[in-house]
Amino acid sequence: MTSFKALQTSESGEGRFETSVIERDINDLPSGEVLIRVSYSSLNYKDALSASGNRGVTRSFPHTPGIDAAGTVAESSVAEFTKGDEVIVTGYDLGMNTAGGFGQYIRVPAAWVIKRPAGLSLRESMALGTAGLTAALCIDKLEQAGLEPGDGQVLVTGATGGVGSIAVALLSRLGYNVAAVTGKADQSEFLTQLGAKQIVERSALQAGTEKPMLKEQWAGAVDTVGGDILFNVVKSLQRGASVSCCGLTAGTAFQGSVLPFILRGVNLLGVDSVEIPLVVKASMWDKLSVQWKLPNLDELVQEICLDDLPIAIERILAGQQTGRLVVRVD
Ligand code: NDP
Repeated sequence: MTSFKALQTSESGEGRFETSVIERDINDLPSGEVLIRVSYSSLNYKDALSASGNRGVTRSFPHTPGIDAAGTVAESSVAEFTKGDEVIVTGYDLGMNTAGGFGQYIRVPAAWVIKRPAGLSLRESMALGTAGLTAALCIDKLEQAGLEPGDGQVLVTGATGGVGSIAVALLSRLGYNVAAVTGKADQSEFLTQLGAKQIVERSALQAGTEKPMLKEQWAGAVDTVGGDILFNVVKSLQRGASVSCCGLTAGTAFQGSVLPFILRGVNLLGVDSVEIPLVVKASMWDKLSVQWKLPNLDELVQEICLDDLPIAIERILAGQQTGRLVVRVD
């Protein structure tokens, strides 16, 4: 049997796209050294962009999205992996122009594949997924730039989203005093349970763009949204503090002034979780599985199946998603 179930996005004419679960053939997967039977994937904002026909993410359709996959090696032509190994793949071209984790099988280069760390189950690894990896990279960069618990409040924007919610939980687990920015007035309790000490309304971060500088407030920040909010975060960092910038839900463009950089010596740190070397990803996964392991990871996520994805994709595109969605691929 070579057919398998997968979500597929197709052009339905006049620039419209539709997404449904179909049967695909393993022989139609791209070439690669490792064939993986996917057990879990997860839903990220980028998957929703791909599934809605965004050509900046996926050039040609029909296409199976899913930038994350965790599962079991079914076939391998390289010595590093053997049938039965439990593995994780995130980023690179998976789910962009290579058929992704929203299908029961993926075939990928061995250079994209990481063995599941002993401290994380396949489901837990996808509870984190690209969002968790990105949140960890953001925090790692802040710490490399000198941030320590006790320095003061650390801001997380887009806090109820995938990257944001894991960033809040990780920072709090590491002993930081977390302020969570959200546009969802009804999700304060969710953020407090993740460990946020203060909830900041999104509108407060959108005001004051006309001012050259804002009150020194944040010892560090994880920004998942970009746009005017990032501009204001840069202007309200404490002297010498840093913001990790990883997302664009509020916009790709943001205004800039050299003043915060030359008057307060602040740092803007770019974070990419997709094309970084596999060894860097592996070291983050190791951290996430041991010293940074979130004790309540299973409770932080909701589980859905492939059939639930079309509605979940609409919700995440509308900025309505709270927390992480793990996708059971059975
Ligand atoms: P989610 O949709 O889960 O989270 C985004 C959150 O941003 C929303 O939940 C919402 O949180 C907030 N938000 C939504 N719309 C707006 C808006 N117009 N203005 C301000 N805030 C808004 O997405 P992900 O967590 O999956 O991804 C977050 C961002 O990070 C995306 O832009 C994604 O492309 C990027 N990303 C980048 C990676 C990298 O390698 N650099 C890797 C992974 C993601 P709330 O309601 O709480 O404010």
